[in-house]
Amino acid sequence: MRPRGVAVLAAVVAVVCACSSQPEARQAPPTATGTTTTTAVTTTTTTPPTALPGPGGTTIPVFQQPYAFGTPQQQVPPVVDGMVPVVRRIDTDRPYVFITVDDGAVRHPAAVELMRKSGVEPTLFLNSKHVDGHADYFKGFEGLATVHAHTATHPDLTGTSYDFQRGEICGNADLLRVQLGARPKLFRPPFGNYDQTTRRAAADCGFTALVMWTAAVNDGVVQFQAGGRLNAGDIVLMHFRHTFVEDFLAFLERCKQDGLTPVVLDDFLAEPKAAV
Ligand SMILES: [Zn+2]
Repeated sequence: MRPRGVAVLAAVVAVVCACSSQPEARQAPPTATGTTTTTAVTTTTTTPPTALPGPGGTTIPVFQQPYAFGTPQQQVPPVVDGMVPVVRRIDTDRPYVFITVDDGAVRHPAAVELMRKSGVEPTLFLNSKHVDGHADYFKGFEGLATVHAHTATHPDLTGTSYDFQRGEICGNADLLRVQLGARPKLFRPPFGNYDQTTRRAAADCGFTALVMWTAAVNDGVVQFQAGGRLNAGDIVLMHFRHTFVEDFLAFLERCKQDGLTPVVLDDFLAEPKAAV
C-alpha cells in the first residue's frame, strides 16, 4: 500500500515550512519549534495542533511522526527451520507503540478521517471474506495504513492440515495482492490461535512473521494483558467494528496519557535486505 500519500505530504509540508533549506524531507521528521519562519514561499508557519475536531463532536489527539514513516527502523527476526517467528511485542527502548486493526467486518466511514487527522498509521490484518466485493473501501487507506493477512475465512487454524492452512493463508495473500495492490508480509492468525503447521505454512506463503498482540481495545476501553498502562513496544489489537471511533480514540488518548507515540509496525519488522 505504498507510496504513502497524505501523511507523507503533510510531513513534507511541515518540514518545508519549518526549515527553508531541507535537503531530504523523508529523512527528517517534522519538528515543532514554536518559532515562526518566513520564507519566500510561505509567509505563515504555525505549531502543529495537538488535537483536531473529529466525527460526532469528538476531539482527535494528534501525533507527530518521530521519524519518517516508511523508513525501516528494525529488522524482523529470521525464519528458522522453515517457520516464521512469532512476534508478540517489539523490543524497543523508544516510547513507541503499535496499533493493529483486524478483520474488516464493519466498513466504518470515519476510519480514514481518524487516521489522517491523528497522524497515526495502523497495520491492518484483513480477511478475504471482508475485502472481496469491498475493495474500494479498503483502497481508501492507501498511504494511511499497511495491509497484511488474516486468512481467507477466519477459521481456527489449530490442528487443521497443512493444505488447509496453506490455502487459507496463501489464498488471503493472493486476494489482497490482486484486489488492493498490497504486499502482505505479516500474518496474524484468527483468534490468535496457531500451531507449528501455521508457522510453516506462513513461511511457505512468503510471510516474514506471525504477529500477536499485548493489549486490546474493546467497547472504547483499552485492556492490558499485564499492568495498568501501555508500555513501549506494545502491539495493540482493535477491530473494524461499529465502535471504531470510540476504540480508536480510546487508544489515542491512552497513548497521550502514557507518553507514547504510535508508529508503523512494518518499520520495526522490516526485511533484512530493506533495513538501514
Ligand atoms: Zn480476526
